[in-house]
Amino acid sequence: MEALVLERKDELSLRDISVAETLGPRDLRIALRTVGVCGSDVHYYTHGAIGPFVVKEPMILGHEAAGQVVEVGSAVWEFKAGDRVCMEPGIPDPASRATRLGKYNLDPSVRFWATPPVHGVLRPTVVHPADFTFKLPDHISYAEGAMVEPLAVGVHAATKVQVQPGDLAVVIGAGPIGMVTILAALAAGCSRVIVSDIHEPKLALARSLGPVIPVNVRNQNLLDVVKRESDDWGADVIFECSGYPPAMAQIFDLVCPGGKVALVGIPLEPFPFDVSKAQVKEARVESIFRYAHVYPRAIAMIASGKIDVKPLITDRFAFKDSIEAFDFAKAMPPASVKVQIDMPM
Ligand SMILES: [Zn+2]
Repeated sequence: MEALVLERKDELSLRDISVAETLGPRDLRIALRTVGVCGSDVHYYTHGAIGPFVVKEPMILGHEAAGQVVEVGSAVWEFKAGDRVCMEPGIPDPASRATRLGKYNLDPSVRFWATPPVHGVLRPTVVHPADFTFKLPDHISYAEGAMVEPLAVGVHAATKVQVQPGDLAVVIGAGPIGMVTILAALAAGCSRVIVSDIHEPKLALARSLGPVIPVNVRNQNLLDVVKRESDDWGADVIFECSGYPPAMAQIFDLVCPGGKVALVGIPLEPFPFDVSKAQVKEARVESIFRYAHVYPRAIAMIASGKIDVKPLITDRFAFKDSIEAFDFAKAMPPASVKVQIDMPM
């Protein structure tokens, strides 16, 4: 099948590759329709590795996906050919301790699309377990369906910090994950979200998503804004979505006494934080890794109109231009948030 293959660091090709796949009794064969380009895909392209995951042989990229069921396994009763779906890219071991505890995102043996050595889905079809596939209502497009994966991270973060109605939140970093976290925080009940970044077009887009207060940290002081908006008390919840150590250093100044911090962005290097500052506020810190059991909620919020992901889809490319799409995403103009690739029908 023709796929977008990362041959090695800095080298992509659009070529035929054979992928051995058999349709098990509980599997679906799914034709891909839209695949989003994630920061991790781009990082494998530019660096050849993320932490311990190193690209050692050619790997198909892409893990944010929506598609259409073309074939169902013998024991699948929930789906039929023609169903429009989106998929969780991680397949845990059903027998693992983490999975049995309901924390399948933490299963050390999870097989996650486009994480070496597992192929991603920038290709015509994939075989995937029905248990990690979710139907899309007719009025949700494939493009929106492919946004469920990143949105799930934001919804998982808002769930883990237990946002309360009326909370004031800070989202540090207005990249794709920062944006979906804003949407999730507002949908979860935050009265306002203060968002910080250095790119004006991203802040302007964030501002359009709801009661969002943009702060350009190039010329504004985030702590001053948080104090102003909270009568000097601090924000109830901080979502750290930048992974950028100088920005992360401020989290315990921004949070209110008894407040909560969600670490969502993944720093590339170890990051030290000030324990005593956290202690005097009894700040609760939650670390976030992907998501578990979040897709049905994320789809339901898109379906009901509670969350609109469409403004985040800024750039679309045809599959035949997917190398161009990756070079675009590599340079990522400040006005762009999510690049998606439309697969041939
Ligand atoms: Zn992603």
